[in-house]
Amino acid sequence: MEQKQLNVAIISSPGIGHLISFVELAKILISRFNFTITLILPSRVNDQPSEAQSSLLSSLPNAISYVYLPPIDLSHVETDDLDVVISLVVVHSVPFIRDALSALPRLVAVVTDLFGTPVYDVARELGVPPYLYFFTNAMYLLFLFHLPKLHETVSCEFRDMVDPVILPGCVPIHGKDFEDGLQDRKSEAYSWIFYHLKRYGLVEGILINTFLDLEPGAIRGLQTEDPNRPPVYPIGPIVRSGMDMGCKVGGLECLRWLDQQPSRSVLFVSFGSGGTLSYDQLSELAIGLEKSGVRFLWVVKGPNEESSFGSYYNGHDQDESFGFLPNGFVNRTKDRGLLISSWAPQIEVLSHKSTGGFLTHCGWNSILESVIHVMPLIAWPLYAEQNMNATILEEGLEVALRPEINKHGIVEADRVAKVVKELMLGANGRRIRNLMKELSDCAKRAISETGDSTKSLNDVASEWMLAKAKECSNI
Ligand code: UDP
Repeated sequence: MEQKQLNVAIISSPGIGHLISFVELAKILISRFNFTITLILPSRVNDQPSEAQSSLLSSLPNAISYVYLPPIDLSHVETDDLDVVISLVVVHSVPFIRDALSALPRLVAVVTDLFGTPVYDVARELGVPPYLYFFTNAMYLLFLFHLPKLHETVSCEFRDMVDPVILPGCVPIHGKDFEDGLQDRKSEAYSWIFYHLKRYGLVEGILINTFLDLEPGAIRGLQTEDPNRPPVYPIGPIVRSGMDMGCKVGGLECLRWLDQQPSRSVLFVSFGSGGTLSYDQLSELAIGLEKSGVRFLWVVKGPNEESSFGSYYNGHDQDESFGFLPNGFVNRTKDRGLLISSWAPQIEVLSHKSTGGFLTHCGWNSILESVIHVMPLIAWPLYAEQNMNATILEEGLEVALRPEINKHGIVEADRVAKVVKELMLGANGRRIRNLMKELSDCAKRAISETGDSTKSLNDVASEWMLAKAKECSNI
């Protein structure tokens, strides 16, 4: 019986956010369609998997296996830019990916994330249809498809564009909010973004982690016929449901601490798996949280002056002395604030009755998890497409407040305190909670047995099974 199961290969490029999204998709493919899944994990020399990643992989169900590919040595590469490094890791891993895929029996599909496009030729060579799982939002995908036109028609750098980009049914997107990789047209990152974008057309279909009621305009835009675009299937929200990443002592402690706080009184502060702040910004955030008088649970990573994704590649656990925070801060706030180094059990925190708001870096997983758990947001984007996500939240869906940034790019403490109080104690926070509740109901409908997203994924999986059945009957 076992060997009759059909196999789906997933190539997850470096980044625990990618892996989390894929694992959730994999679990649904197993439970609903009885596939087995092979996760193929390219990596870079010296990037150690974080404890959270190891914990996630060690708690996988039997039907999901994983293989780490030989790490790629990029010591000669000077940049740490995400688009460049991740793309190079995948490109150099292609021979290993070919070997791994060739060894898999009854393979029905190869699914990659947005950096996995170099794999599509290999998949075709092996006669297996490649798919892209785009686990951020529909507006960003629509924007990417529009990018070649912008490249041709705009002559300045995008951040200097006077008019925003208007995509049908979407909020206006200002050039300064494009991701960093697009802000320098001569950069390597820029070339890589276009490299991947051109290859999206090579897949059989694009699965996207969103749902119709969340992004009706963008999804309709993507589903209008275009011979250059593969079919797009909105299958979300696919988010984790709970305690599946293990929960080390810090995590359990923080849940016990939350148990003792009043209902909806705690602001959860986290910049995702990779986000880091400069020393000055960390200090302003700390003082602002203190000034707000609001209870908080803060996942604090050490300061990083060079990049806003300083813990992306190496999410190592850090020392818990928090010596980089303002003098006396830890002591002064110990009765109403809890600090955690590096990793929190986010699903459990967001679903806890004491949590009343989330200051987030606007990673798409975090946004969808907040929708499901009806969590009002403060949007504090840092890198990748997060500025656009923040715009969707603030201007499109109106479910987030955004603190004002000064001319040096810093959110000052008073601004932090103001926005935190508004979200946690003000009328705006209540308004946002009501809107989030409506979105949450729509999200749950989309993934219910008869929901649109469920149907979309059923369509894709049925195609995989049918194609295999035809192939076998031809043998
Ligand atoms: N996450 C978590 N604990 C943390 C930080 C992140 O459980 O302390 C999880 C979070 O719930 C989400 C994922 O890691 O599922 C982060 O994905 P997201 O797209 O929000 O941001 P990224 O980290 O990829 O930038």
